[in-house]
Amino acid sequence: MQERHVVKQDSDLMHQRNMKMIYRLIKSEGVTTKAKLTRITKLSPTSIGRIVGELIENQFVQEVGQEGSGVGRKATSLSLNPHRVLAVGVSVDRGLIQAGIVNVEGKLCASIERPIDDGIGQERLIERTVDLIQELMTRYRKMLDPALVGIGISVPGPVAWPEGIMQYSPQFRWGNCSFREALESQLKRPVLVENNVKAMAIAEHLFGEMKEYTDFIVFNVGSGVGAAVISRGKLCRGAGNFAGEIGHTIVDPHGPLCDCGRHGCFQTYVSMNSIQEHFHMPFSEVIARSAEDREIWAYLNQVTDRFAIMTANLVNYYDTKCVLFHGQMQQEWPELVEIVREKADKLVWKSLSREFQVLGADIKSEMAASAAVILSEFLEADNLEPVEM
Ligand SMILES: [Zn+2]
Repeated sequence: MQERHVVKQDSDLMHQRNMKMIYRLIKSEGVTTKAKLTRITKLSPTSIGRIVGELIENQFVQEVGQEGSGVGRKATSLSLNPHRVLAVGVSVDRGLIQAGIVNVEGKLCASIERPIDDGIGQERLIERTVDLIQELMTRYRKMLDPALVGIGISVPGPVAWPEGIMQYSPQFRWGNCSFREALESQLKRPVLVENNVKAMAIAEHLFGEMKEYTDFIVFNVGSGVGAAVISRGKLCRGAGNFAGEIGHTIVDPHGPLCDCGRHGCFQTYVSMNSIQEHFHMPFSEVIARSAEDREIWAYLNQVTDRFAIMTANLVNYYDTKCVLFHGQMQQEWPELVEIVREKADKLVWKSLSREFQVLGADIKSEMAASAAVILSEFLEADNLEPVEM
């Protein structure tokens, strides 16, 4: 009796895994047919027929027309039903919380936002975030039920994974906040909290320009500087999920004082904040004046030198194929990427990295990035259930 029970459990698990495998395959193929799925998976046509039938019955997959032309049997084309798997993505940043509903293909379906005070404390921030998510979930209850797999939240600064503890927030100037635990206990839904740059890298890999890349680095430059490394298709977290904090790489121990209390960190030379402070004017004005002001031009030349050196070093550290610039600096200074590409190209060790690229990212929704954190966990799990808490 006992043995039969175990066998039944095993076959259920196998069935769940196969369903999930086919679901992932249809996602990566875009549009496909049962014959193609049979060919790729080497499962029997009967098994594929049964699994696809079940996925269609539960609305995870839809029939989208016929493939083939001329005489002979036409095959039914299949694609994911993108609205059957949804996540709530929340971006928490200085001055603003945004919450949106994002489907499995990364499309933002609905969103709301609220301003928050600059000096907001931990408890009040938790309260405001919970309120906004509840408002979104109430307003779009019909759309979310039963498609919601969980809530993904991105915040600036280092976050312990998977505990979701904000170690320190440079934007709010406090730390050690158990954000995930507080939100999960109030929302009664699975919640994951991730650093915003890491969330962006996960999103780039899941449904962005970097879908085809297994090795790339997101280089985020705004008020601070951060990076996230995808290596062999996986986010590189390090022991405490703090890998990629390149803004605090020490360039010169006798250099300018950094927020972190040390001297000469990389970001004290190249972040938008440091450039604005150096010239006592907004970053956009620094860029506008750079063509005729020799001092500004020389300073920005040093900035791009430093970016190029860091880029070339990152290529050596991680054997990466692409460095993708994200963030406000490249939006306000579009030439940055081209200049760094040219300079870095002369610095990288060619025999190690023949196909290396430097690219600028399109502006992406922070909410889609936050949702990607939970969607990627959903896609990796063995079943089609909401992400486990
Ligand atoms: Zn620092």
